[in-house]
Amino acid sequence: MKLTVLTLFPEILSAYCSASIMKRAAEKGLISCNLVNIRDYAYDRHHKCDDEVFGGGAGMLMKPEPLDRALEAAGSPGVRTVYVTPSGRLFNQAMAEDFAREPELVILCGRYEGVDQRIIDSRVTDVVSIGDYVLSSGEVAAMVVIDAVYRLIPGVISQESLSEESFAGGLLEYPQYTRPAKYGNMHVPEVLLSGNHAAIARWRLRASLIKTLAYRPELLQTIDLSGDVGRLLREVIDEGGTNEPHTADPGRTDKN
Ligand code: SAM
Repeated sequence: MKLTVLTLFPEILSAYCSASIMKRAAEKGLISCNLVNIRDYAYDRHHKCDDEVFGGGAGMLMKPEPLDRALEAAGSPGVRTVYVTPSGRLFNQAMAEDFAREPELVILCGRYEGVDQRIIDSRVTDVVSIGDYVLSSGEVAAMVVIDAVYRLIPGVISQESLSEESFAGGLLEYPQYTRPAKYGNMHVPEVLLSGNHAAIARWRLRASLIKTLAYRPELLQTIDLSGDVGRLLREVIDEGGTNEPHTADPGRTDKN
């Protein structure tokens, strides 16, 4: 995937784009991350990128001309172009999967009060919010979108890791444990040490249902509850569910 990020502060993103999994993905040729400084497309003496808002109001707005030129140079129109803003559609795993199928993606980071609406109307294909809160600028939001997207590109990380994650099957991920099996007075649930794969799968599904029911019950409306999953869910609900999924079907805890 060819990724282009338009920002007034490329330095915020440059460390992220050249470290860890992203670095390895770039070395393997799976992704390229091109950081574009919008200011380079402001041709006046002061490289001015913002101005007052028509109609009045506090704060400044990003001017259309530099953005228009920067987006044109990045391949717009014709390339999927995401503007990150709190007034967009809420970002989720399905959107990340959709973006990950694109050969090219442009992400526009806002600053100040945001960008002139004419740029959104003429250049942007997807208006995306990462959550119901207001950040001071778009760079962190862009990193959230990039991170959720690039790890889905085939070859970046193992498919097995992806298929077991939260949201992959519509549920939150079950609790996980590693060595030591006994930590302080807390024990890993016995079934996970049993080597019985069917029992482990059932425990994990049940734990996922308990967790989803407690933290994100609305997700349960999006999954098929006709078979075993539905039966297990009814069982969990009949047993009273739990508001404390971290203690649901817990490992043994030594008393005293
Ligand atoms: N005036 C805007 C509003 O009320 O919707 C907020 C502008 S915010 C201070 C500046 C920039 O931060 C935005 O243009 C956007 O790029 C980014 N930003 C802030 N919160 C965000 C969020 N929840 N999701 C995505 N981007 C966000």
